[in-house]
Amino acid sequence: MFIDSHAHLTSEQFNIDREETIKRALDAGVHLIVNPATDLEDSLRAIELAEKHDCVYACVGFHPHEARKADEKSLQQIEELSRHPKVVAIGEIGLDFYYDFSPREQQEEVFKAQIAIAQRRNLPIVIHTRESNDATLTIVRDAVTASPEWRSQKATPESRYSAPKGVFHCFSGDVRMAWEVINMGFYISMPGIVTFKKAELATEVASKVSCEHFLLETDSPYLAPTPHRGKRNEPANIPLIAEKIAALQHLSVEDIARATNYSAYRLFGIGEVGKPQFTYALRNSLYVNLTIRCDADCVFCDRKGEAVIKGINLRIEGEPTVEEVIAGIGDPKQYAEIVFCGYGEPTIRLDAIKTISQWVKAHGGRTRINTDGHGSIINKRNIVPELVGLIDAVSISLNSTDPQQYGELMRVDGARFFPAMIEFAKESVRLLPKVIMTVVDLDVVDKEKARRLVEEEIGAVFQTRPYF
Ligand code: SF4
Ligand SMILES: [Zn+2]
Repeated sequence: MFIDSHAHLTSEQFNIDREETIKRALDAGVHLIVNPATDLEDSLRAIELAEKHDCVYACVGFHPHEARKADEKSLQQIEELSRHPKVVAIGEIGLDFYYDFSPREQQEEVFKAQIAIAQRRNLPIVIHTRESNDATLTIVRDAVTASPEWRSQKATPESRYSAPKGVFHCFSGDVRMAWEVINMGFYISMPGIVTFKKAELATEVASKVSCEHFLLETDSPYLAPTPHRGKRNEPANIPLIAEKIAALQHLSVEDIARATNYSAYRLFGIGEVGKPQFTYALRNSLYVNLTIRCDADCVFCDRKGEAVIKGINLRIEGEPTVEEVIAGIGDPKQYAEIVFCGYGEPTIRLDAIKTISQWVKAHGGRTRINTDGHGSIINKRNIVPELVGLIDAVSISLNSTDPQQYGELMRVDGARFFPAMIEFAKESVRLLPKVIMTVVDLDVVDKEKARRLVEEEIGAVFQTRPYF
């Protein structure tokens, strides 16, 4: 099941077959569609369509092309319309310096006025920007800084993340710009462009930015994906875009659907979050969520908040028993490996790991632990010898090569935990078949130094993992 976060179903291009188009979308598994508006009349049409169809939601606003039509009165009407229960955002709004259909000054004025509406109404915004990334970023940055209370509510009191503020639809920036807009609390989305042959920038962004920051969109009736390029686009084409992003992210189409549906849920409040899961498949591995307890409290971790990864709800109530995990695994041979993780530190449940691994090995499976490397401190003894014959691989988060930075990132005593983690890694290299050490791909982390430490001093496999 997919969500098309951006389809202009109210476009006159759908006048002949709007109902059939919606039906084709549902048949293709696109179960929700967000219809952005381009001006006041279109906002009314979007609401009317959303009233008629459960699966359609509306945005209201003036597209930059139509900015010249927006006056004080019509903007007031947009604000009134935004109170309709099926209106989920102000959009699409922004700047278009490619066509310049409206004077640039007016585009900027109307963009700012509509962000102010969104802020008063505490709604997210859907942004259009073409040949105007710098000007758009400046306006958005100023608006975010000026109004810290806008979308500042959190899903749980301990969440690290506020409600998202909007989406840069048809994102045309580079990875650096993606990084900036994500940090400001925005999602990005790309229509069929990402499937085009010469879309190097789009494919680079779609392979380097985690799918957790993406929404799916068609931008129908425009920008149809390959092999329909040049024809009228429609929401039923969403699977083609999802397939391309899945390939770039080395994930399954289901993973992309789940992650982007969750993004739409957080942004627009539509759809739902799945139930908490003890076991879940990603790529061809099965992950076992043993615990959400952890001895660390990393600055980038949302374990105590929403605890959702790639749309998978890991906020378990209580911890699974050994029997529940074994039942959840089924036949371990159907997976490349069974990975003990959490949204926490799995070695807190060392006995469970040992019992389940024994069963997995006896049934022809392979095992790995994803750990912070503090298992021996947690269990007050060197635990690595106990893993021999049970665990095929260990992945340890190195996080930093500097004890102090390590301590700051993980909010632990770096002087004590850093050497203990290194010792755990060395012992694992000595006794276990495979040891991988990872650092987050952050500018502040000296990756070359980390690689040397991991490969030359410890003798483990070095990997970076995306921070975002
Ligand atoms: S070690 Fe892992 S689970 Fe624990 S706080 Fe850090 S990121 Fe979260
Ligand atoms: Zn659009």
